[in-house]
Amino acid sequence: MSDCGKLIVVSGPSGAGKSTVISRVMEADKSVVFSVSATTRKPREGEREGVDYYFTSFECFREMIENDELLEHAEYVDNYYGTPKAPVIKNLEKGLSVLFDIEVQGAMQIKKMCPDAILVFVIPSEFSQIEKRLHARGTDSEEKIRQRIKTARFEYSMALNYDYIVINDDPDTAANEIKSIITAEKCKSAERKKYLTEVCSL
Ligand code: ADP
Ligand code: 5GP
Repeated sequence: MSDCGKLIVVSGPSGAGKSTVISRVMEADKSVVFSVSATTRKPREGEREGVDYYFTSFECFREMIENDELLEHAEYVDNYYGTPKAPVIKNLEKGLSVLFDIEVQGAMQIKKMCPDAILVFVIPSEFSQIEKRLHARGTDSEEKIRQRIKTARFEYSMALNYDYIVINDDPDTAANEIKSIITAEKCKSAERKKYLTEVCSL
């Protein structure tokens, strides 16, 4: 008897280390599939089409919205980001869990649609780390870093809407915490009721 798939939504300010931590969770847990988002942002060096994102034009993105192909979408620092609906449905039907790396507006849309979604907010223990990490990553201009940090302040104000807050000072520790959250959620008694019905009527 297999367990049902879960929706795991990971958000947090840019530079918190979400991508780094998520890739470690994905390596370790093959029952979880990463939801590849569509974005109008230009690819960074090393980013792969269909693996990190579906990179698209503003026009194509608008068409996806009009054709109702996105589960949620939001504007973030002058670009659009959205979750293609079809792969999420397909993976849930297979009993797999789906993990999303999305910003807070999208996370709230998912929580509204699917109240059972598990929301995880990732931050470093000190806010100042965000700027340091964005500079170390070296993918954004000074102006974009400034905009991302400004947005981060709004994102922090939404953190208490999340079910869990994971501190990423060490990516392995943070990945282990997310893996533990997924495991604990799967073990909730409401999820395991089907194992009891053979013995008693519930
Ligand atoms: P996000 O996806 O949240 O924007 P990234 O995963 O791209 O963040 O990480 C931003 C930068 O910080 C990258 O250069 C990454 O290697 C680095 N990083 C990630 N986690 C940590 C950590 N715990 N300590 C120091 N640097 C980190
Ligand atoms: P980045 O440009 O750093 O890859 O991502 C910027 C922000 O967009 C991050 O907070 C990331 O979580 C978010 N993001 C990525 N994909 C999606 C998506 O499909 N929907 C929403 N709402 N946000 C997304």
